[in-house]
Amino acid sequence: MTTSTLPPDHAARMDRAALAIDGLSVGDALGETCFRDNNRDRLMDDPRRTAAGPWPYTDDTEMALGIREVLQRHGRIDQADLAATFARRWQLAPWRGYGAGAFQLLGLVAAGADWRAAAETMFGGQGSFGNGSAMRVAPVAGYFAADGFETVADQAALSAAVTHAHPEGIAGGVAAAVAGAYAWANRDRRGDEAVKRGLFAAVLAHARPGDVWTGIRHAATIAFDVSIEAATRLLGNGSRISCQDTVPFCLWVAARHLDDYQTAIVETIRGGGDIDTNAAIVGGIVALAAGPESIPDCWLEDREALKLRL
Ligand SMILES: [Mg+2]
Repeated sequence: MTTSTLPPDHAARMDRAALAIDGLSVGDALGETCFRDNNRDRLMDDPRRTAAGPWPYTDDTEMALGIREVLQRHGRIDQADLAATFARRWQLAPWRGYGAGAFQLLGLVAAGADWRAAAETMFGGQGSFGNGSAMRVAPVAGYFAADGFETVADQAALSAAVTHAHPEGIAGGVAAAVAGAYAWANRDRRGDEAVKRGLFAAVLAHARPGDVWTGIRHAATIAFDVSIEAATRLLGNGSRISCQDTVPFCLWVAARHLDDYQTAIVETIRGGGDIDTNAAIVGGIVALAAGPESIPDCWLEDREALKLRL
């Protein structure tokens, strides 16, 4: 691999990927604190009352950092390298909260199995539609944000397919990535109601029809003054850890708070369910619209320092 294959604006692309990862990882790490003690209740009462740091990040961030590595090396999603990178990072830090399916799949890849064959054997041969394809994809959105939604969707699909062979698993990754690219493209008008509402149409135009797509279409019809609790009843909250149950809700919260990272994360956590992953997805999208200054400094300080290389 030589640097000559990297695009001339590679550094600017990596800066956007880093912003997306900051948004993702702070959401992930703060979200994870809300599964213990009374941290979630305290935060719901007052957004300043976060758990004491450092907040360890989880598999969401670990896999996003794997994507970052591959983008750094190739300037695109190289699926063989991504599979190997996911497996290597999992072996070095298996305690990051990976799900049972990820343990099984990454264990096979680490033992030398072909990633494509392994991904297709998951869940009785239907492939995974778990929300892991969406939780880690924000750096893809950042890196390709200036290339148009078609490219973002294509690269996101490549990144998802390494572990998620089911079409709904691919659609979840594509939807979260296109939402992130839309956020960046509209960052200068992120407070406009029409811009917030427009996120859904942009995503629907690029994700394949299916249950995730239908869920996002449903989300597009739900007014932003509906309570978070009501929205989760209509859209799910990741309790079933599927893309279908996770991505429509996350896109709705991200669109509702596209101009306010802190509120976006607090409201995501209020929705419960798969809190770390929901907050990772929402955080990765909203940071691309609201910018680095939108992430509270004290939250960045409390998030465990990112291990860019493992
Ligand atoms: Mg996690």
